[in-house]
Amino acid sequence: MSKRLLILGSTGSIGTQALDVVRRSGDLELVGLSAERSWETLIEQARAHGVGRIALVDEQAAARGAQAWRDGEVLSGPEGLVRLVVESGAELVLNALVGSAGLGPTVATLGEGIDLALANKESLVVGGELMTALAEATGAQITPVDSEHTALHQLLAGQPPGVVERLTITASGGPFRGCGHGELQDVTVKQALAHPTWAMGGKITIDSATLMNKGLEVMEAHHLFGTPYERIDVVVHPQSLVHGVVQLVDGAMLAHLGPPDMRIAISYALHGGESVELPIRPLDLAAVGELSFEAVDVDAFPCVRLAREAALAGGTAPCVLNAANEVAVHAFLEGRLRFNAIAEVIEQTLGESPVAPVRAFESLYEADREARTIAGGVVARSM
Ligand code: NAD
Ligand code: MG
Repeated sequence: MSKRLLILGSTGSIGTQALDVVRRSGDLELVGLSAERSWETLIEQARAHGVGRIALVDEQAAARGAQAWRDGEVLSGPEGLVRLVVESGAELVLNALVGSAGLGPTVATLGEGIDLALANKESLVVGGELMTALAEATGAQITPVDSEHTALHQLLAGQPPGVVERLTITASGGPFRGCGHGELQDVTVKQALAHPTWAMGGKITIDSATLMNKGLEVMEAHHLFGTPYERIDVVVHPQSLVHGVVQLVDGAMLAHLGPPDMRIAISYALHGGESVELPIRPLDLAAVGELSFEAVDVDAFPCVRLAREAALAGGTAPCVLNAANEVAVHAFLEGRLRFNAIAEVIEQTLGESPVAPVRAFESLYEADREARTIAGGVVARSM
């Protein structure tokens, strides 16, 4: 029996790798695709995969797409994305959008009781409590698409309650591993985009250079697995071959290893947490030779600390952290902000944003909007 799958963000790094997984799999039927504005690529993808419905968030791109493609339906705007989720008859949605734009589609998916393969970690960072409560209420399953969380998900499967002591997420350390705070003052966008082990979209690549990605991933793990923050560790592992470690009460540690290829995580989530054959060359451990581990340098990479502080503060603080980070990363990529100022913008925005409880999704949208205004002001003053 084939499963009806919808891919949100199919033109991105995760999205295109997911299409490769779908092409090789006999049991996934694509019912819809979406992108922000790249309508030509999206239409090509729809033709190649026999998809009859697509959504483009940018309204001009949607209009041009609708003119160029007469064989199917083109939905438009953020509402178009939500309609695609609700009206396509999907049994599984892959959310591979970047940033807090993924929040609305995640809510729509879980609200409909549709299973979610979640690459968009920002949804959980921003509204983790509400998302997991919604999934519980409707019975929708959330399966992560993130190498570390896929590893932990697979390691935790079948462990009885009470035997897991701690979780460890590995970090490659990014392109600036070993640099002190002062050395990071003048790094360029090009240097920050040169990730040593993974090829990914621009935003997550910068998050990997600041290590904010690990801060976000600690929150992602907390919400996915219900593990308290003090039991989630981050360790730097430059080879990116060990993705996650689960420590048990008897002192045993289970590690998940594999080549740094996101198709493993994507395929696992698209097949409901099962392993199916992929054309990926396994690791040759003798050729790998050595695995090394080191502590995170929190002075050089303050984003890990800021994320933990926001996580512990709770309420709207993680949402504010995420919004400020998105504004700062965007400004850095456009050459309007120095690398070290990314953390400064986030810290200042958090300082100026009182923490409020999150009672409904509206509190999140409001906190996101206000934090973007504050962060935008801090960026403007920092030049
Ligand atoms: P990307 O930038 O390569 O692709 C993003 C996709 O979302 C594109 O299809 C784009 O058109 C669409 N999009 C962008 N902004 C949008 C908006 N405002 N509204 C609607 N659609 C929009 O990003 P990516 O690297 O594929 O990452 C996607 C998500 O997966 C992120 O949350 C990232 O943290 C997570 N993730 C990525 C990787 C990786 O290897 N790339 C690994 C782990 C987790
Ligand atoms: Mg990851």
